Amino acid sequence: MTKMQFKAESKRLLEMMINSIYTQREIFLRELISNASDAIDKIYYKALTDDQLVFNQDDYFIKVTADQSARTLTLTDTGIGMTQEELENNLGVIAKSGSLAFKNENERQDGHNIIGQFGVGFYSAFMVADRIIVRSRALGSAEAFQWESEGADGYTITPCEKDAVGTEIVMHIKPNTEDDQYDEFLEPYRLKAIIKKYSDFIRYPIRMDFKTQ
Ligand code: ADP
Ligand code: MG
Repeated sequence: MTKMQFKAESKRLLEMMINSIYTQREIFLRELISNASDAIDKIYYKALTDDQLVFNQDDYFIKVTADQSARTLTLTDTGIGMTQEELENNLGVIAKSGSLAFKNENERQDGHNIIGQFGVGFYSAFMVADRIIVRSRALGSAEAFQWESEGADGYTITPCEKDAVGTEIVMHIKPNTEDDQYDEFLEPYRLKAIIKKYSDFIRYPIRMDFKTQ
């Protein structure tokens, strides 16, 4: 299996994400929740013009699962999902919107300011995770694919099993070090507070399921 390389500018942002000390690490959840919500929106809008597709509100939700002993934080959505090609195109390069603003206007600002002001997208998850697995099944597809990366040295995409359409993002939360604490991202109270803070404009229910030690 060949390891694919990130595009140059993606790699730069990724390295910043991985190495910088941020006081606002928690915003990765805002980014992932908004992506999940966007993915459900896409089904919603598709259903407006597609007679074959019925949008039943109860079927659409976002779920946050934490497992302290496995040190995993997982975000699941029942959104439109991604094909193999979309995983490659969307997660293999830094997305257009947030990152472009980042690159052009903030070349000389420190990471702290950038993170606060702009949507930095999916890669912000590397602020808290040292390994990320994205399993996704696109609407209308019988196949599912898994994107996996440990950061700047690239990613792999392989077929996987997934029963439901949508996306599941498994983040392996970094171990604590002398200088940096990551345990908070597996703590129910903390997670609930972060989710509450960033879910004001989310139209879909966010379910939580936390396993403590
Ligand atoms: P942005 O949301 O600004 O486009 P991101 O880095 O957050 O940038 O996401 C990049 C792209 O990856 C999105 O535009 C979308 O196409 C895709 N993506 C990310 N998360 C999901 C998800 N949960 N479901 C479907 N597609 C997603
Ligand atoms: Mg986004």
